[in-house]
Amino acid sequence: MSRYITDRYKDFKAYEAGEQLDDREYIRLNTNESPFPPSPKVIQALKDFDAGGMRFYPDPFCTSLRRKIAGKYDVSPENVLVTNGSDDVLDYAFMAFNPIGTAKEDRPTVVFPDITYNFYEILCGLHGVSFSTIPVGGDMTIDPEDFMDTGANVVIPNPNAPTGIALQLSDIEKIIRSNRDHVVLIDEAYIDFGWESAVPLIKKYDNLLISQTYSKSRSFAGGRVGFAIADKGLIADLLKIQQSESPYNVNSISLALAEAALDDEEYYAANCRTIRENRRYTRNALMEMGFRVLPSSTNFVFARHPDIRGADIYEELKKRGILVRHFDRDRIRAYNRISIGTKEQMDRLIEALADIIKEYEPKTENE
Ligand code: PMP
Repeated sequence: MSRYITDRYKDFKAYEAGEQLDDREYIRLNTNESPFPPSPKVIQALKDFDAGGMRFYPDPFCTSLRRKIAGKYDVSPENVLVTNGSDDVLDYAFMAFNPIGTAKEDRPTVVFPDITYNFYEILCGLHGVSFSTIPVGGDMTIDPEDFMDTGANVVIPNPNAPTGIALQLSDIEKIIRSNRDHVVLIDEAYIDFGWESAVPLIKKYDNLLISQTYSKSRSFAGGRVGFAIADKGLIADLLKIQQSESPYNVNSISLALAEAALDDEEYYAANCRTIRENRRYTRNALMEMGFRVLPSSTNFVFARHPDIRGADIYEELKKRGILVRHFDRDRIRAYNRISIGTKEQMDRLIEALADIIKEYEPKTENE
């Protein structure tokens, strides 16, 4: 840290992304990336891309992709905002809708579950927003009743991360309805892995903001494309922030490739089906080994062993060339978040876990 940083950011702790190590070859099950390459149509679009055009700025409004996304979700282009990853949607929303107030005694202007995507809390720190968290139950589920009439903006990922547990759409609707004077942001980063989206509800509720991403189900984490869908009033607010903060927010290669991805929805739907199969397979195998595995509607599972510390499992897997995500935080220290990869990767994981459990078993005298 330099001596020039302002007081506001001196103690601010930055978001910690999943580690990317290159000291050996790892199976990366720690950042919920897709194990599958982008569609052949995307790869072809990259080959066909006119590199000479790179000298021009990209379309600041992402008009063509915006239109295409609107077509897919049966909404108008004015209901869509395209961003550089869905983290940017969250960033703009935290800026646009949460009054800044750093005093501890301030009423929270935004609420979210205590066990959830850590980035929300980071954004509160970044933008000086007062927040409060609502505890999930002992089984890690969100009780929708706890989010009724909060008197604050609400953020809920559906399905939640890192638990993987989803809320029924009818419960999401109740939450939106009971917080009509505030924005309800439903983060649907993992929606494509087998859950029902709240997108159709934007026609009924002008306080509903949905974020989605290309990073997971469309194998596009490196391309950085996300989008928001909402009533056109909310989208206009976010667009104003985007155009002021980062006017050419999405680069021209990503825009072209993201359009090509939308031309091959069957390819990605098939990948999502495979992920669901591999998820079921992995969950069953882990449970047979004695793990407690939360029910997941995402491309990861959240699992803990009754006897072995979460941090130890993480370390032991790393020694065996497998990266998973461990969060050293209250309530979830015992768990690891494990991304679902190919069947072969999952078999390697299961083998490694069996090995770790064997080593940890108390040895009898005869052994
Ligand atoms: N929301 C949730 C719940 C996530 O886990 C992530 C991935 N870290 C994101 C949003 C952001 O993803 P991206 O910026 O790659 O679209």
